[in-house]
Amino acid sequence: MATHERSQQIHTRAQQLMPGGVNSPVRAFKAVGGDPVVIAYGKGARLWDADGNEYIDYVASWGPLILGHAHPAVVSVLQKAAERGTSFGATTEVEVELARMVCDCVPSIERVRFVNSGTEATMSALRVARAFTGRDKILKFEGCYHGHSDALLAKAGSGIATLGLPDSAGVPAAFTNETLLAPFNDRAAVEEVFEKHAGTIAALIVEPVPANMGLVLPQPGFLQFLRDITAREGALLIFDEVITGFRLAAGGAQFYYGVIPDLTCLGKIIGGGLPVGAYGGREDVMSMVAPSGPVYQAGTLSGNPMAMAAGIVTLRMLANDGVYRGLDAMGAWLAGALRDAARAAGAPVTITQLGSMLTVFFAGEAPADYASAKRADTERYGRWFRAMLGAGVYLPPAQFEAMFISLAHMQEDLERTAEAAKAAFAASR
Ligand SMILES: *Cc1c(COP(=O)(O)O)cnc(C)c1O
Repeated sequence: MATHERSQQIHTRAQQLMPGGVNSPVRAFKAVGGDPVVIAYGKGARLWDADGNEYIDYVASWGPLILGHAHPAVVSVLQKAAERGTSFGATTEVEVELARMVCDCVPSIERVRFVNSGTEATMSALRVARAFTGRDKILKFEGCYHGHSDALLAKAGSGIATLGLPDSAGVPAAFTNETLLAPFNDRAAVEEVFEKHAGTIAALIVEPVPANMGLVLPQPGFLQFLRDITAREGALLIFDEVITGFRLAAGGAQFYYGVIPDLTCLGKIIGGGLPVGAYGGREDVMSMVAPSGPVYQAGTLSGNPMAMAAGIVTLRMLANDGVYRGLDAMGAWLAGALRDAARAAGAPVTITQLGSMLTVFFAGEAPADYASAKRADTERYGRWFRAMLGAGVYLPPAQFEAMFISLAHMQEDLERTAEAAKAAFAASR
């Protein structure tokens, strides 16, 4: 029987020092119950906690670790980079190299600016869109998460959905006054917002495949509809591909669906597990950014050589033949095996899957938007999560998140996961 004594001791100490004992809310396991496990180290698709328990990991640091933990190629470039100095606050050649790779791979990106988080990327992209269009309003979808900047903390899914906060405290109403909302996949609602606010919307920002209310798929034609209506209304289309960039395909969801936005936000995978973000897009729009143009945006550690080096090796590995076909095949296999396991155990679940992302919803049908996602049985997800954790499978500690498969996952890992899921589904009743 696995014990979690050391995890509990460390978490108790952490709670006396940091709010909730964590540095990001979902880590506290509030949405699934029980104490969080404290991670000691990871290798490939596996994690070990402070008590030495081993897990097959489907969190992957919330998406970045598409190569798995401590990939030898990443470790090696980081060691070399560290010896050459960890930060200069000046241009280095590695930044230029990663910029070239991003511009080559992502269809919409002609110019890119690196920042330190996805939050910074979306916040900055909106500033640029507002400057470029001379308009103030932005439109986002309920349940899409774009980081924690003030204007974007309206119906932001993820940790907020989980905690049941309608919004965040500490955000003045004036800061979200310019933020308009619509349900995902709802064309009529989007039409209506553009009609009502004609000529005042700077940008529509969207996760092209939302993964922060659990994985929700865009209905056929929905992304093209967003492209058409923003072009018609003179608003910029911003794809937040912080998760989907280099996850669905090297060119992200925009390549996968063939819909090209004006601006794109990246993060997670492009830093190879180090802190990073990026925004980029049309040359004429990005030339608004200082020092080319009047939009101020800066960062002491932006383009950090360690993060750039880890990003470059990661993207190089992803450029190998068949990588995304392999990830797709693993995703489809695991989704199928989990469906079979749920059916065998009589558990009412719906599994959404695209490529190497999936969500097990404790709900009768696949959600199309935030309102339908929220109908999932979160109590039952919590029981399933805890049973899986006990069986050595580390899942996202909340219903409204996606599982991530990495290139380090082996068929044997997926089979063990499906086997554990059968008993855990039965135990979730
Ligand atoms: C994670 C995430 C962000 C925020 O990125 P951070 O690096 O956590 O600030 C923004 N958008 C999406 C879609 C994300 O999943």
